[in-house]
Amino acid sequence: MEQIKQKLLDAVSARKEEIVALAGDLVRFPSTKGNEAKAQSFYADKLRELGAQVESFEPDMAEMKKHPAFVTDRENFSGSPVVAGVLKGDGGGRSLILCGHMDVVDPGSGHWTNSPWDPVVKDGRLYGRGAVDMKGGVAAHYMAVKTIRQMGIKLKGDVKILSTIDEECSSSGILALIGRGYKADAAICTEPVGLKVTIATTGSTWFKIKVTGKSAHGGIAFAGVNALYKAIPIIERIQRLEEERRLRLYGTVPVYNGAPIAFCAGVNKIQGGTWPAIVPAEVVLEGRVGFSPLEKLEDVQKELEDAVYAVAKADPWLKDNPPVIEYYKSRWNSGCVEEDHSLVKTLQGAYTQASGKAGQIVGMFACSDSGTLIRFGDTPAIDFGPGPQSMAHQTDEYVDIDDLVKVARIIAVTILDWCGFTE
Ligand SMILES: [Zn+2]
Repeated sequence: MEQIKQKLLDAVSARKEEIVALAGDLVRFPSTKGNEAKAQSFYADKLRELGAQVESFEPDMAEMKKHPAFVTDRENFSGSPVVAGVLKGDGGGRSLILCGHMDVVDPGSGHWTNSPWDPVVKDGRLYGRGAVDMKGGVAAHYMAVKTIRQMGIKLKGDVKILSTIDEECSSSGILALIGRGYKADAAICTEPVGLKVTIATTGSTWFKIKVTGKSAHGGIAFAGVNALYKAIPIIERIQRLEEERRLRLYGTVPVYNGAPIAFCAGVNKIQGGTWPAIVPAEVVLEGRVGFSPLEKLEDVQKELEDAVYAVAKADPWLKDNPPVIEYYKSRWNSGCVEEDHSLVKTLQGAYTQASGKAGQIVGMFACSDSGTLIRFGDTPAIDFGPGPQSMAHQTDEYVDIDDLVKVARIIAVTILDWCGFTE
């Protein structure tokens, strides 16, 4: 038993070049939002090479709109198919989802040393947009499965490899796959968490608050109502709300105890006014509320609304012209598993076997498909992938090649221990 795992670890290590090559091949596709089709088609073929039963489809907007967690600014999902590859086990084992997203954020306006779509290997790093977030993680878990297959090890439980879209701006891809029935006894998302065993992910919902005033010439400003001034107490209230929530939620999810604020809420964009000498009739505040793995989205939204409407009620103008709150464009779901969940234990066992010690258990401040798998997919999920985490979404993004190999090794043994196997 232990011998076969050691053989597997060695075999994965020997595939270092192949892991980097696959990650590089994926980086070459500029798979920003709406442009994932070519990368997904390439990856679907790779899954077929494994002998997986592959399904690929563009999410159906009408179907998606029925889901309470769905929010988007898309018209449709043209050019953004999801992909799933299923490797049936022999039976009698536990199933495992390996999840990654194929979408990447735009390269941005920073100056890249090399083209973001031209994978470059240098000093133990693979450079390119998506290298760490998260095509590197996708290549690592793919290669873990491929090595198991090529060694002829027979798994008892099913392995389901999911490649999602829209993770960077919402959760549509994973929601669509869950809707199609893709669930498992557990899931691992190989997001760039720097080899940390990430058992919790925060949620986040974007909001827009329209504050209405009354326009007037600046010389007779007393004839108008300045929407900007009316927005100030609302902004201050949201700032206080963040602090109230910090105090109330502290300690409820212990992996976040070390953070100054675990679930930030804030107004981060403001638009309003047309001219320095005209009293603005409208101001739009935009922001996000982060929420805990233990909170319900509806409750968090209600708390925000109550806070904003209480300000409005106390104001002679706003009580008759209340602000309008809207949730739009982006939403991610929070979720967590217990520290002693069998998936965490299994991964930690593999971690120890592969590297001599267990991994650090943490919660993440960013969002991941894992939250949606937990909340709506009935699938306990964690994040575990390469680093450095700080390079996600950055100019000259890179992934540490050693991390890719470590992730592939640890995932490979995790698959064996989780799904069960016969030699
Ligand atoms: Zn990511």
